Formats: sequence, structure tokens, C-alpha cells
Amino acid sequence: MESRNNKLFRLIICSEVIIIFIIVSLIINKSSIVINGSNEISNEVLFYNNIDKEISNLYDEYTSNIRKLEDKIMNGESDRRIAYLTFDDGPYKITDDFLKILKDNDVKATFFTIGKPDREEYYKRIVDEGHIIANHTYSHKIKNGVYKSADTFISDVKHQEDFIYNITGYKTTLVRLPGGSSQAGKLKNSIVNLLHENGYNYVDWNCETGDGSDKKMAKQGAFEWYKQTCTDDKKIIVLLMHDYNYSTRDNLDKIIKDLKSRGYILLPLHNKSIMVQ
Ligand SMILES: [Zn+2]
Repeated sequence: MESRNNKLFRLIICSEVIIIFIIVSLIINKSSIVINGSNEISNEVLFYNNIDKEISNLYDEYTSNIRKLEDKIMNGESDRRIAYLTFDDGPYKITDDFLKILKDNDVKATFFTIGKPDREEYYKRIVDEGHIIANHTYSHKIKNGVYKSADTFISDVKHQEDFIYNITGYKTTLVRLPGGSSQAGKLKNSIVNLLHENGYNYVDWNCETGDGSDKKMAKQGAFEWYKQTCTDDKKIIVLLMHDYNYSTRDNLDKIIKDLKSRGYILLPLHNKSIMVQ
């Protein structure tokens, strides 16, 4: 009787030990999966960080080389010519047409955008299609707006910087002042100093299609303006256009082909460019 009880007791103990063993091994196994899993994730994060670093190093190298070329062109040590196509005040409902013409000609440009919350898809497309997206202030309010004070100006620039970043994930330091830097009047020096202190660079232009001055120009208007202002003596061209203007749109293909035939390399602006001001 006593020995049967002992056997039963031993059996219970044994089975409890087995159950405990199974539970413990399950816990150990599970924690090793978690550890291995987190290792895999941290390796992946490291991998992508390295790629990001490599891309940013390559971009730095590229922009430094372009800057060297610009300096050589300006010093007369190179016969090359560079044209920067720039589009202000968009995106607009016809920005799509501009993107298509640029794509068909395999040309990258620079878009100085303002705040248009209902046209988010265009900001993304500008970036996705390899163009440079830049800052033209959020409000673009020339009268009683951005030029009230240097601080007002910078906060409007920061507003647009955040707006672009939230949509595209791209942080731009390239600024064009609404109406050009001359519009800032007496505030120009303080605005420029504040821009530089905050890590921005600004650029004006040295030729144009005239579409900012004459928005309803006749069909050929944009090409005539371009021909008159983008003259051969300009070895580096920063061409001002607006991606809301129909005449510029209708002549863009012709302008690009004309610039190429005159020996210009067409590039997007970057933060080390010689800033035409
Ligand atoms: Zn503008």
C-alpha cells in the first residue's frame, strides 16, 4: 500500500518536472527568437544608414565637382556652359505638362515652390522625377506679408521648408525671394544675413521668359523674351520661368533644344552653386 503511494508520488513529481522543463525551454527559445529578431532589425537599420551616408557622400562629391566646373567657366579656363532652368510659384494645375516636357528631354530642373496644400502630389512628383525642390516662401505675399520684417520673412521660409519636408521627406536650403531679392528693399541685408545664419542660400536669375511680368503673353512671347535675355555672353544661365504660364509651357521644348544646340549643359541647382544674385 505504502509502496504504491510512493510510486504515485514519484510519478506526479516526474511529470511536474517534465512540464516545468518544457515551459522553461519554450521561454528560452522564445527569448532567443526575440534577440535574433532584434539583431536582424538593427543590422537592417545599419545597412540603410550606410547606404544613406554613401548617397550623401556621392552627392557632396558631385556638387563639389560642379562647383569646380562653374569656377573654371567663370575664370575662362573652360569653354563649357551651364543653364539652370528654374520654375517659380508652383505647383499649378499645368505643372504636369512641364514635368512631361522635362522628362521627354531628359532634363532636370529646379522648382521654387510655394504652399499649395491641395497639390501635394506635384511636390512628390517633382522630387520623385529627380528635380530639385526649393523654397519660395509659403505665402509668397509680397505686399504686407513676407517683407514686413526679416523675422517674418524667415518664419515664412521655415513654414515652407516644413511643408515640403512633411510631404516629400526632403529638406531644402535653397531659397528664392518672392519677386527677387530686390523686392526686399531696405530689408535685403538683414534678410540675407538671417538666411545665411540659418543655413540657407538664395538665388536670383540672369535671364527669363518674361512670364512673371506679362502673364497673358502671346504664344511666341516666352521664346522671344528668352532669346533677348539669355544671350551668349552669359556662360552660366539661371533662367526664370513660372510653371503656371501657358506661353512658357508651349515654348519650353523649343527653349531646351535651343539651349542644348548652343552648347549649354542643363542641370538642377544645388546648394554649392554660384548663386546668381
Ligand atoms: Zn514668385
